[in-house]
Amino acid sequence: MSHPAELDWPFFDDAHRDFKSRLDAWCTAHLAHTQHDESREAVDAECVRLVRLLGSGGWLRHAVAGSAYGAASDRIDTRQLCLLRETLAFHHGLSDFAFAMQGLGTGAISLFGTPEQKQRYLPRVASGQALAAFALSEPEAGSDVAAMQCSASASGDGHVLHGRKTWISNGGIADFYVVFARSGEAPGARGISAFIVDADTPGLTVEERIDVVAPHPLATLQFEHCRVDARQRIGDAGQGFKVAMATLDVFRTSVAAAALGFGRRALHEALARARSRQMFGQTLGDFQITQSKIAQMATLLDAATLLTYRAAWLRDQGQRITREAAMAKMTATENAQQIIDMAVQMHGGMGVRKGHIVESLYREIRALRIYEGATEVQQLIIGKDLLKA
Ligand SMILES: Cc1cc2nc3c(=O)[nH]c(=O)nc-3n(C[C@H](O)[C@H](O)[C@H](O)COP(=O)(O)OP(=O)(O)OC[C@H]3O[C@@H](n4cnc5c(N)ncnc54)[C@H](O)[C@@H]3O)c2cc1C
Repeated sequence: MSHPAELDWPFFDDAHRDFKSRLDAWCTAHLAHTQHDESREAVDAECVRLVRLLGSGGWLRHAVAGSAYGAASDRIDTRQLCLLRETLAFHHGLSDFAFAMQGLGTGAISLFGTPEQKQRYLPRVASGQALAAFALSEPEAGSDVAAMQCSASASGDGHVLHGRKTWISNGGIADFYVVFARSGEAPGARGISAFIVDADTPGLTVEERIDVVAPHPLATLQFEHCRVDARQRIGDAGQGFKVAMATLDVFRTSVAAAALGFGRRALHEALARARSRQMFGQTLGDFQITQSKIAQMATLLDAATLLTYRAAWLRDQGQRITREAAMAKMTATENAQQIIDMAVQMHGGMGVRKGHIVESLYREIRALRIYEGATEVQQLIIGKDLLKA
């Protein structure tokens, strides 16, 4: 089967090329951009449907690690993860979201979970039977994660959680949440632990649902006397910050890949528009100003693609990629925003018409520059890393 030219870059091998061809064929058969109902109930139901669909297609096995627990391999193949997110985002934004949350919501379990925790959660997530969520942010602790106030007090054989988490993707529809809370072993980042909290645990409630420009299930969670068993803690006490950052190291690169998918779709639509739109006796693409725009879009996309798959390839070689993942996430999300904006401009009024693909891309891309570390946070990570040497 054929594959895109960038798959011939040295970051990929034949297995990746074959994977991408099968994935594209599956997406073409099962996912299509349609103007879907954006009401909360409809989006919730669609997310659950997409998780089940991705599970039955076998794709969610690549979002988790551990062959014994239903995963495709013992270690997440970062390039496969990125190819998946890029391709899903190209075809259908919400399916990328549904896939991504299965990975982000279990990343801590895949990386640091006990065999018992892995057995209990990963097979259901890999098959699409359970939905996962990652609860780190709080109203007063977003970029400044270490300022979190949600507490986990030791009590008998476990902990009792108190506090709030906000902006939680899959909030309200997840079957369980990986929650980070202050367990108090030390001040700041060293006194945080990670816990798996089942959605039906007494004391956990959905305080508020949040609506955003590109509708996704999102909520504020409230924890009041919420008791979690000691077996539900992930990693050592006080190591929660490390657990969160290691999870983000993997999934930050995949946010870059999702941005590539949105940007690549925008370029695809812009090329089709440039070839077909007649004006002033020729096509839009016959004007040099349009050719210049297309050149900029393609170059922004290739630059972002190179940084993204460099980060993914390095991680697959066993290297730490904090700096490279930050460069990839920053560049891919910022570049995709520019590419999509140019595509909207080339579509004229159609570009802002509700339900048009470039209009939905314009809304989809915006949050990627904010979550899993805003662009400014990525700049700090890169700058500090270079200065410490
Ligand atoms: C759609 C969506 C989904 C999300 N899903 C999840 C989820 O599943 N789980 C979860 O835990 N969280 C999630 N989040 C939360 C997200 O991670 C936070 O919104 C993000 O970390 C920013 O935090 P904040 O919103 O509190 O903004 P703030 O921390 O108040 O930051 C505001 C802005 O300040 C700027 N800034 C930040 N730091 C600096 C700095 N050092 N110097 C200069 N400027 C700076 C940036 O431009 C930033 O956007 C989600 C958010 C959105 C929008």
